[in-house]
This record gives sequence, structure tokens and C-alpha cells, in this order.
Amino acid sequence: AASISLQGIQKRYPNGTEAVRELSLDVRAGELVVLIGPSGCGKSTVLRMINRLIEPTAGRIMLGDEDVTDVDPVRLRRRIGYVIQNVGLFPHQTVRANVATVPGLLRWPKGRTKARVDELLDLVGLDPSQFGGRYPNELSGGQRQRVGVARALAADPVVLLMDEPFSAVDPIVRSHLQEEFLRLQAEVRKTIVLVTHDLDEAVRLGDRIAVLSAGGHLEQYDTPAALLGA
Ligand code: ADP
Ligand code: ADP
Repeated sequence: AASISLQGIQKRYPNGTEAVRELSLDVRAGELVVLIGPSGCGKSTVLRMINRLIEPTAGRIMLGDEDVTDVDPVRLRRRIGYVIQNVGLFPHQTVRANVATVPGLLRWPKGRTKARVDELLDLVGLDPSQFGGRYPNELSGGQRQRVGVARALAADPVVLLMDEPFSAVDPIVRSHLQEEFLRLQAEVRKTIVLVTHDLDEAVRLGDRIAVLSAGGHLEQYDTPAALLGA
């Protein structure tokens, strides 16, 4: 795991929207930080700047002791896993092929890829022999999210970015996935930044919670216990 340091980052979109005006935030190695705040306050924008899907207008983002702008994009993909709402699985590819996307990009040998994919499916609670050959539309919502998590872990990233990973499933499945996810995190110990608008989820999952308001303004940053006690 690696620490993440956001140093005075700003994002103004080409249409003039000031999505993030000025944000500084440190995430320790192996820590799970939840970003919470109202819709449109810049949470997804922050995540997408960390993995360089978009570039900040100003400021610096450090991954460990490296500036992310200095990291080669393929290496960055390998170091940062990304999970989004509704997963974005490729519909015409099987579960196995979906999970193997990043190893494919990295040109891993076939045998190594297959072993890794099956290990990951087991890890997220999907029996590879039962689910490996299915297509995304043959899975429940909860199962699709698990495949998304497996895919994000495929290259053994040092960081996981998760954007509303459990929002698209019903409350009972969500609660189950959250529990499993905490067990998984205890095992793999990634540095995680997770975006949600659900306070219960933030309190349940976060080592620390960053409360944002419009323009990505950091209102509070503390442990769930301290925030709830405050
Ligand atoms: P959140 O994830 O907190 O809901 P976002 O980061 O998605 O917020 O969006 C922050 C602000 O930036 C919103 O006002 C949104 O409309 C705007 N925004 C997001 N993406 C774009 C874009 N590609 N172009 C212009 N404005 C955008
Ligand atoms: P969950 O509680 O995980 O959301 P569901 O109630 O949606 O599960 O699905 C229950 C079972 O039915 C799952 O094992 C899933 O694999 C299977 N299933 C759901 N949709 C389909 C489908 N379109 N084709 C085949 N099997 C499906």
C-alpha cells in the first residue's frame, strides 16, 4: 500500500464549472478514507484526478513519494484499481475475461492470468467454475459488483478508488457486500478512497471520513467516532 497526498488540488472543467476549488487531504498507507458530501460537490472529480482520467487545473497529487504526473500511465493503471457504480463490465465478455482486462493489458502469460483470475473470484465469493464463464447479464447486481472488485484487484494495486461501489444494489445485498468488503480489506490492506453519499456506509467502512461541501471544500476530516461524538 502507498499513501496518497492531495496538495491544493483544483479542477475547473472546460465549461467553467469549478468542481474542486482547493483541496488538500492526506491518506495514510493502508487506510480506508471515505469521501462523503452532497451530489455534485466534486467527489468523483477527486477520484478521477487521482488516477489521471482527468488532470487537475492546479495542485499536486502524490502516490507514496511519486508525483502521479511522473508515473507512466500503464504503470499507474496497475498501481490503482478503480471500481465504479454499475461496474462498467464489458457485456460481451465473460466474467473471467472481464477480470483479466488489466493482466491482459500488462501481457501476463495465460497460465498466470487464469490462476490469478480464479483466485480473485474466490476472494470475492464467486465460485470460478460456476461464474467464470457467465456474461454480466447472467449475474445479479451484487454479483456484478463483486466482479468489479475482483477486476480492480487483478494487478494487485497499491491503491483502490471506489466510486459508490455498493449504491446500485438493494439494501440487504449492500449490507452483505459491505461486510464482505471489510473482511477482504482486512486481508489485502489496500489504501482505499471510497466515495459515497450514504452516512451509514461511511461510518461502517471508513477509518477516517472526509466531509466535503460544494466545490470540494473539506469541512471535516476525522474518524467516525470523533465525527459522531462531535
Ligand atoms: P459528485 O461526485 O460529488 O457528485 P462530481 O465530481 O461528479 O460530483 O461533479 C462536481 C461538479 O462538476 C458538478 O457540478 C458537476 O456537474 C460538474 N462536472 C462533473 N463532470 C463534468 C464535466 N465532464 N464537465 C463539466 N462539469 C462537470
Ligand atoms: P442478489 O441477491 O445477489 O442480488 P439475485 O436475487 O439478483 O441475487 O439473483 C439470485 C440468483 O439468480 C443469483 O445466483 C444469480 O446468479 C441468478 N441470476 C440472476 N439473474 C440472472 C440471469 N439473468 N440469468 C441467470 N441467472 C441469474
